Amino acid sequence: MLGLMQDGQLLLSTLPTYAARNHGTAEIVSNTVEGGLHRYTWADAEKRMCRLAHALRRLKVDVGDRIATLAWNGYRHVELYFAVPGIGAVCHTINPRLFPQQIAYIVNHAQDKVVFTELTFVPLLEALADHLGCVEAIVIMTDAGHMPQTALSDRFNVLCYEDILAAEKDTIDWPRFDENTASSLCYTSGTTGNPKGVLYSHRSTILHSLGGNQPDLFGAGARDCIMPVVPMFHANAWGLVYIVPMTGAKMVLPGMGMDGETLQRLMEEEGVTISAGVPTIWMGLLQYLRQSGKRLDNVERFVIGGSACPRVIIEEFDNTYGIRTDHAWGMTETSPIGSYNSPKPNWAGLDKAEVHTRQLKQGRGLYGIEMKIVDGEGNDLPWDGEAFGALLVRGPWVVREYYRSEDGPAVDADGWFNTGDVANIDPDGFMQIVDRTKDVIKSGGEWISSIELENVAVGHPAIVEAAVIACPHPKWDERPLLICVAAEGASVTREDMLAHFEGKIAKWWMPDDVVFVDELPHTATGKLSKLELREKFAEYKLPTA
Ligand code: AMP
Repeated sequence: MLGLMQDGQLLLSTLPTYAARNHGTAEIVSNTVEGGLHRYTWADAEKRMCRLAHALRRLKVDVGDRIATLAWNGYRHVELYFAVPGIGAVCHTINPRLFPQQIAYIVNHAQDKVVFTELTFVPLLEALADHLGCVEAIVIMTDAGHMPQTALSDRFNVLCYEDILAAEKDTIDWPRFDENTASSLCYTSGTTGNPKGVLYSHRSTILHSLGGNQPDLFGAGARDCIMPVVPMFHANAWGLVYIVPMTGAKMVLPGMGMDGETLQRLMEEEGVTISAGVPTIWMGLLQYLRQSGKRLDNVERFVIGGSACPRVIIEEFDNTYGIRTDHAWGMTETSPIGSYNSPKPNWAGLDKAEVHTRQLKQGRGLYGIEMKIVDGEGNDLPWDGEAFGALLVRGPWVVREYYRSEDGPAVDADGWFNTGDVANIDPDGFMQIVDRTKDVIKSGGEWISSIELENVAVGHPAIVEAAVIACPHPKWDERPLLICVAAEGASVTREDMLAHFEGKIAKWWMPDDVVFVDELPHTATGKLSKLELREKFAEYKLPTA
């Protein structure tokens, strides 16, 4: 027997409609490429989304067409986030930091029909013009006064965003369709091989947003002011752009301004209470606060993920600025929220240092995400906080199959997706990432976590960034090599670093050598590029070898 309740489809167009009606005065503030802040409300935004939807149809955008964006976190990008799927097309966010050839590959693989680009990326598209055969039109996300002279006009129908909106009416009857329809597309950065497309649906996105805003997760409400620093081109800005219209929170979008100074100013002037980003962002902000002596008086919480959170971030934001850091884990393939670290009642009464230690874990799986860890043969491992193995997940916002993939399903017969991460899970359900499967150091049959060594290294005040990679060793197979970037003007030696590790790790985890470099390579999503480091240090001979 079926239930007798309505089956309203979970469609993304319902979000701006809801926000305009219920939170019409809630603001969206954007730091713009043209200069200065742009400010409007959800009532304004929803009208412009209607205009954009009509404009898309005038460009002959049909249900299922892929529409690409090359854009920062800003109001026009938000409009695209809703108007494109609103008419049944697919919003394909492209990471502009990828290698140009990868961008061309992605556009062609997705068969993008129209590309919406911020002014910043016009030169990038000009350089790729010969390789974008599928693209029919390019819309530059600016007004007539800022339209550039561009060679793109020789090949494409180049349009001005504000012009195409101005011609349209500001109401629409959003179409209703199956909630399983594709809504957006995001390619993984692909450290090896070609990037792979994760194709989200309206249903998966709405369920992810509902799941991700529970009280022990983002837990945002109408009195909050949220600043997603995590880019809208990387894993949907962790769902925040969809969560905000559900809540009526104010939203502040930093555009290109991801440096400490801009972030501090925006946070103070706009009253930001919650912000989210990767560790490098928060390290940059911390350094700016240290140097300038400035404060953050409104911020209650930083959410950090994408890479393991170094202890110094949790400690210093708490001890010096009274800001809690929530550690989260996820992947493009998990929409992306997979786990979130919020205290349990048995944390009450713990001293600060112990709380900080517990906050280093990537957190508990949220309702909607099932997790397990397995050994090499696929056997379940216990949740004792000690045993570690491959981390598998499944749930309604986890990938089932990559877009136009010839490899078949991305999951096993029971629907489990292997994350490529190695983790342990404690009896309270807190998961801790030990390493990426590819990055773990296999020393004498035992595993050393590169992440843990890196965290200890950046706890040294003279170190701004650190990476640990495996180096070949005749006796132990692999041993850890620590590669550090020292702060400007700091003098720190190999011996200082090794002394700093004393007592903080098991003796046999001690790096066999330390080298200093001016900078470390990063992937397009801001993670350390261990692949590049391994290539660079392929011939490196450890003193112990
Ligand atoms: P991406 O799809 O680019 O977001 O990358 C996902 C990967 O980033 C995960 O599989 C992890 O290896 C890594 N990652 C994400 N969050 C964390 C975290 N909090 N700690 C450690 N690694 C993380």
